Amino acid sequence: MPAASSTPPSVRRVAEVSLDAVRANLESLAGGRDRVGDAVVDLRADAYGHGLELVAPALAAAGVSAVLVSPEQLDAARALVSRRVAVDTDAAALLAGSAHDREARMLGPELFGLTDRALRPALRLVAEVLAVKALAAGEGVSYGYTYRPERDTTLALIGIGYAHGAVRRATNRAPVLVGGGRHLVRGAISMDQFSVDLEGGDASVGDEAVLFGDPDRGEPHVLEWAEATGIPAAAITARLAPTVERVAVEGSVETATTGTVTVPTYATAPDADAPAAGSLGRRPGPGRAAARISIDALHRNVERLSSIVAPASTMLVVKSDAYGHDLMPCVHAGLESGATSLGALEIDAGLALRDAGIAVPLFAWMHGARADFRAAIERDIDLGVSAAWQLEAIARAGAIADRGLARVHLKIDTGLHRSGVNREDWATIVRRAVELERAGRLRLAAAWSHLSDTSADEDRASLARFDDAVAEARSLGADFELLHIGASSAGIDYPESRFDLVRFGIAAFGISPFHDRSGRDLGLVPVMTLAAPVVAVDAAVGGGEGGGGGVATIAIGYGDGMQCVAGAPTSVLLGGVRCAVLEVGVDASRVALPSGLQVAVGDEAIVFGTGDAGEPTAEQWAEWSDTVGDELVTGVTRRVPRIR
Ligand SMILES: *Cc1c(COP(=O)(O)O)cnc(C)c1O
Repeated sequence: MPAASSTPPSVRRVAEVSLDAVRANLESLAGGRDRVGDAVVDLRADAYGHGLELVAPALAAAGVSAVLVSPEQLDAARALVSRRVAVDTDAAALLAGSAHDREARMLGPELFGLTDRALRPALRLVAEVLAVKALAAGEGVSYGYTYRPERDTTLALIGIGYAHGAVRRATNRAPVLVGGGRHLVRGAISMDQFSVDLEGGDASVGDEAVLFGDPDRGEPHVLEWAEATGIPAAAITARLAPTVERVAVEGSVETATTGTVTVPTYATAPDADAPAAGSLGRRPGPGRAAARISIDALHRNVERLSSIVAPASTMLVVKSDAYGHDLMPCVHAGLESGATSLGALEIDAGLALRDAGIAVPLFAWMHGARADFRAAIERDIDLGVSAAWQLEAIARAGAIADRGLARVHLKIDTGLHRSGVNREDWATIVRRAVELERAGRLRLAAAWSHLSDTSADEDRASLARFDDAVAEARSLGADFELLHIGASSAGIDYPESRFDLVRFGIAAFGISPFHDRSGRDLGLVPVMTLAAPVVAVDAAVGGGEGGGGGVATIAIGYGDGMQCVAGAPTSVLLGGVRCAVLEVGVDASRVALPSGLQVAVGDEAIVFGTGDAGEPTAEQWAEWSDTVGDELVTGVTRRVPRIR
């Protein structure tokens, strides 16, 4: 499957990287243009998410003579800069090698303005407004209703979420520039979207929303996001997913781009052919972090969930690269185990599935202003519709499509208040859809919605609103083949929510959708185990920081997606016991060894997994970091190989 596509992405998400800002920071940090040659630049973790490919050549051209990179990018970095520039993965070697009269300095996150407001932030994170909708005072927004506006207002839905790096802890805390004003993120940030209360302002579908960028242009500073979340700015940018296009900007001109990626490809693990995964003992690690994917666990989970909801059918939701688990192996496993359709979220992901030969029904429901409805129709992808503009665009696309008839699933907003048609607009859009159907322009195949999982009472009220909306639509001539509303939580808990199909996501990956029950309680098995080898051990020297037992360094850091929320009480399993995480760096982390524990280089630390051997689960990490297990698994970055 092609990783990068030439068609525009269904939803626009861009990280603009100002090379002018990087050069200005370089000069001021180095102490002047003539001293730039003394600086060693630290471009680990893809230049802290800014794109090594864009940044390294610009810095080399500016006169930098030494570049520190992460191991997986050593060859790529050498190919990007001239042989005059020293490139290494060893900071000490570079600093020693660059010894001039003056002391060499290592410049890392500060080069990108991630540490200090006196510097210029280099990265501007932009996403697209997907919907603008009215919300009445007191109504809740997003999962758990953590925000309820005091007066009638308007919400803008922004098409970026924690799977792309808009960290979930920014929920109700971090500012966004949209519709000409700064507003807070409102309601829980979801995997691929979040809402903003426009508070009297206005915005249109397709408008730009700036999460952080240039404070001189009124845009939020990335340090505001860092302060609001307790996550270092370098960790926020380093975790930006490959699905966010990097664009280099000089002056106001775009000079280079990394292109768009729909489905990431992963680094291959050096030990991919080594004996079976799952060993917790002392074996030489692959040298770097790896995520082991248990296809067997996925099989069992999907079998279990499909049997729970039968005779309703199971749609396996595989958005965000199958929740970070690697798309195609999960798709095949899901379809072998009871799923009969797939939720792709976006049209381009659906097209990638068709390109990979997947013939089952596909559903895509999140569309930016430039979404390619025609391609979706021609490739037989069912389309969710949340607004009149989408319905009209689909009808137009159907008229010029070479084949197929658009299959529309009309979404009623029953209380989640992200997307979906408001109740007061429902009859109008249903009438129009029925009219278009009678004119042979589309097939109104389904009515659907999505629940807020706030409480049993709220979910029941939403289900009642759904029944009411469906009844009205039928009275207006709609002839639905399918009704669907439940995702993992409702599919498991409310038989009356199952209708014709349940859209299962997180539960299929073995993580509970509930706060009060674990995956294990539900009979599910976590699919991902995240592990990393020990690369150094420092024995305890009288009352060291490890509390008497020394410190081990493990080859996983925030550049791999390791959570690093200030003050979170996290631990990993090492040598059969839990070891507290002391410090999370970009490529490596340090953990405390209890006294008496013997650990050697090459031993494996389990960050999270099934819990069977005493390791934490992703659910536990989520609790420690004040987020959901979904963010743990989708946050594992591309450089971490997924190994089956
Ligand atoms: C993500 C998503 C799902 C799957 O939700 P889970 O809680 O992960 O099962 C279902 N429906 C919609 C509309 C979604 O966005």
